[in-house]
Amino acid sequence: MALSSEFAQTLKQQADIVRIVGDYVSLRKAGAQNYSGLCPFHKEKTPSFSVHATRQFYHCFGCGASGDVFKFVQTFENISFPEAVRAVAQKMGVPLPKTSFSSEAEARDARLRTALLEVHERAWGFFQQ
Ligand code: ZN
Repeated sequence: MALSSEFAQTLKQQADIVRIVGDYVSLRKAGAQNYSGLCPFHKEKTPSFSVHATRQFYHCFGCGASGDVFKFVQTFENISFPEAVRAVAQKMGVPLPKTSFSSEAEARDARLRTALLEVHERAWGFFQQ
């Protein structure tokens, strides 16, 4: 997969699962760190779907659906993992790194450019001394 899992991890730390899931499901505060709502993955009349704010995961006591913010978007929207990462990034207003979704060749180019940039910066530092 061309997707940078490092980016996904960083994004996950920044993403507020309550806010993201709250875009799809109406959540009510159910505890200090818990929010609950009607599960979007099975039909129900009483909320058994809960989202944990600090542990950043959701769990449904009715149908057993659980996971992190990406899994939620992935399952709800029926999209792939990279698409879910992209969707969450958009919701958070986080720009996607170019290398994340590009081909292997493009990723190589980007690494090369970064390396060149570092050389330039080092050279620049040298001249400033
Ligand atoms: Zn459920």
